[in-house]
Amino acid sequence: NDVEQDVARRIIDTVSGRISPNAGFDDVALQLSGVISGLLGKPETISADDGGKPKVAIFVGPTGVGKTTTLAKIAANYMLTHKKSIGLVTADTYRIAAVEQLKTYAEILDIPVSVAYTAAELSEAVKQNSDKDLVLIDTAGRSHKNKAQFEELKAFVAASGADEVYLLLSSTTSSRNYREILSSYSFLPDYKLIFTKMDEASTCGIILNVRYLTGKCLSYITTGQSVPDDIETVNIDKITKNLIGSISK
Ligand code: GDP
Repeated sequence: NDVEQDVARRIIDTVSGRISPNAGFDDVALQLSGVISGLLGKPETISADDGGKPKVAIFVGPTGVGKTTTLAKIAANYMLTHKKSIGLVTADTYRIAAVEQLKTYAEILDIPVSVAYTAAELSEAVKQNSDKDLVLIDTAGRSHKNKAQFEELKAFVAASGADEVYLLLSSTTSSRNYREILSSYSFLPDYKLIFTKMDEASTCGIILNVRYLTGKCLSYITTGQSVPDDIETVNIDKITKNLIGSISK
């Protein structure tokens, strides 16, 4: 399932340490599930404040990974299911279509959207949404090879005063690429992980690998292009079962 060797070895070592030499197959399978779900940890999603200050979340990640679509899914779910008031801000001003895309979703949901071209404008836009429960900020995709773009992103993240940063990765990213991407985003003091395009991935090893490499919390996975349906909170049991396959208990 594309689980990296380091991670697999760690799992084997831990399981070996927990079972007796004559343990049966079922015992081993049970321990294996426990160790993997332990490594995956407890997922955390956005908690929108009830009253008081709005919760501010900023979405970052490589180009085309699905930031705008995911933000729209979260906005719609918090508005429709949790009855929260939402403000959207986009700092994704590199692509003309990106602003239009978010505005279209915002119009359908009847949510205000502000466009920020600079870090100062972003800070201002967040302030203007102080009456909301949740403020979601979209950013431009960064090529992990372009250093100047990262300096700008750093300034945007700082100016947003975000309570939470979400790093999005496509589930189809190769091991070499996600290592490079993670290293580019290592300037972020903390973030949670969203895995997009799980419907296009043949395995879910990336979730365990990236969680193991970063130690960051898992939050959502997205499973298709449909807004707002194709998003779910990471389901640790489901992923563990998927990783272990037919021997899962
Ligand atoms: P951004 O550049 O990171 O903001 O990415 P977009 O939100 O514009 O998405 C890029 C493309 O990926 C669009 O065609 C989306 O419909 C598609 N997309 C987003 N999320 C998913 C997903 O979970 N599964 C699939 N198959 N496509 C997705």
